[in-house]
Amino acid sequence: MQSLQQLIDFDRLHVWHPYAAMPNLQPVFPVASAQGVYIQLMDGRTLIDGISSWWTCIHGYNHPRLNQAAHAQIDRMSHIMFGGLTHQPAVDLTRKLIEITPAALQQVFFCDSGSVAVEVAMKMAVQYWYNRCLPQKQGFLTMRNGYHGDTFAAMSVCDPVNGMHHLFRNLVTQQYFADAPQITFEDDWQERDIESFAVLLAAHHDRIAAAIFEPVVQNAGGMRFYHPEYVRQAKALCEQYDVLLILDEIATGFGRTGKMFACEHAGICPDILCVGKALSGGFISLAATLTTREISASFAVGEAGVFMHGPTFMANPLACAVAVENLALLESYDWQSTIRSIESQLKAELEPCRSLAAVKDVRVLGAIGVVELHDPVDMQTIQPCFVEEGIWLRPFGRLIYTMPPYIIQPAELTAITKAIYKIVAQITTNSEPQK
Ligand SMILES: *Cc1c(COP(=O)(O)O)cnc(C)c1O
Repeated sequence: MQSLQQLIDFDRLHVWHPYAAMPNLQPVFPVASAQGVYIQLMDGRTLIDGISSWWTCIHGYNHPRLNQAAHAQIDRMSHIMFGGLTHQPAVDLTRKLIEITPAALQQVFFCDSGSVAVEVAMKMAVQYWYNRCLPQKQGFLTMRNGYHGDTFAAMSVCDPVNGMHHLFRNLVTQQYFADAPQITFEDDWQERDIESFAVLLAAHHDRIAAAIFEPVVQNAGGMRFYHPEYVRQAKALCEQYDVLLILDEIATGFGRTGKMFACEHAGICPDILCVGKALSGGFISLAATLTTREISASFAVGEAGVFMHGPTFMANPLACAVAVENLALLESYDWQSTIRSIESQLKAELEPCRSLAAVKDVRVLGAIGVVELHDPVDMQTIQPCFVEEGIWLRPFGRLIYTMPPYIIQPAELTAITKAIYKIVAQITTNSEPQK
C-alpha cells in the first residue's frame, strides 16, 4: 500500500485541481471520509466544513436519508438515457421544483452542472427570440462582479476582470456589462443604483436576448449582498424593453439567503431560473434550468421545432432520486428558523472582526458570513492555518467567508467564527512589520 506522502506526491504531479497549476503548488489535504459537518482527513485530523463543499451539502455528509435514497435507486438503475425514456425520479423532482419555485416556472430542463444550466438558459433565451422572428436578439446584459460558471457562454457574462476574459478574448462573446450594484441589502434604496443597467437596456435592447445575474447575492464574483429593489426594477425594465430575465440561483437557491429562492426577497419571478449546487444536497452533480410555458411554447412554432440541447447524462436517475430526498428533507424541518439562527449567530460572532486592522468589511445574510480584507489572502499559507484550527474554509481574493451546512450546531459554528477571528488577527500582526 502506498504511503500518504506518496499519494500526495502523485496527486501533485498528475491530478489537476480547480484553478490550480500543474504540478500543483498549493497544499492539498487527502480526505478519508466525511460525516455530518465533519471532514475526516487521511492523516487523522478532523475538520469542520465551513463552506459545505462549495455550498452544496446543506444537510451534511453521509446523511442516512440521502444514502438510503441512493441505495434504493442504484438497485433499480443508476442511469438510463433520457431521450425517449423517462423515470419516476425525474418526474418527482420536476413536480417538486415546480412546486417550490415561483408559480410561472413550469418547465424543467435537467443537466449535470451549474455552468451547463447557464449555457442552457442562454441558448433558451436566444432560441426563444429566434422562434419569435427576432434573431438579432442574441446579446446578454449582465452586471460586473458576477459569476456564472467556467464554460464559454457562462464565462462571457462573468466579471470581465476577475473572470480573466482577456485570456480568451477572441473566443468569448462581448456582452453588455452594467455597473455592479452598490446599495447593500440593508441600506436605503437609491434609484441611481440601477441607472447603468437601465441605460444599457434602453440603448441595446433590440440586440439583447436576456439579462442574466445572481439575485441579491453576487457569490464567487465577490460575496456581495445588494438591494432586492435592484432585482425588482431590473425585472420591470426587462418587461418594458422586451428582454427576458434569467436569474442564476445556483448559489442562492434552496434557502441559503433565508428565502427558498433569493428572488423572493424582491417578490418577482424570472423568465428563466438556473439551480444547481445544493439541489442534490452535495451528494452528486445535478443542475436544472426552469422556464415558463410561454417560452417553452414558442419552440413548437420555431424553425427547429425543438430545443437544441440534450446532455448524455440528462436527468440522471440517481442524482434525481437523491435530490428529491434532499428537498423532502429540507421541507421536513423549519429551515427558515434554522437559517435565521445561523444568521444571528454569524452576525454576533463575526462582528468583532470589524475592529481588526486587516478587515475592510464584515457582512452576513442568511447562512452566508463574509469577512472582507483590505488585501488578498495568500492561499498557500492561510488554508493550512485554518486546517490547524480544525476548520475547512476556502478563502479567495480578499474574502474569508463561511457558508456552513444548515445542520451545523451552534458550538461548531462558534469554532468556525473563532478560527476566522484568530487567523485574521494574525494576518494583521504578520503584515504590520512588512509595511
Ligand atoms: C457555482 C456557480 C455556477 C457554476 O456551477 P458549476 O456546477 O461549478 O458549473 C454558476 N453560477 C453560480 C452563481 C455559481 O455559484
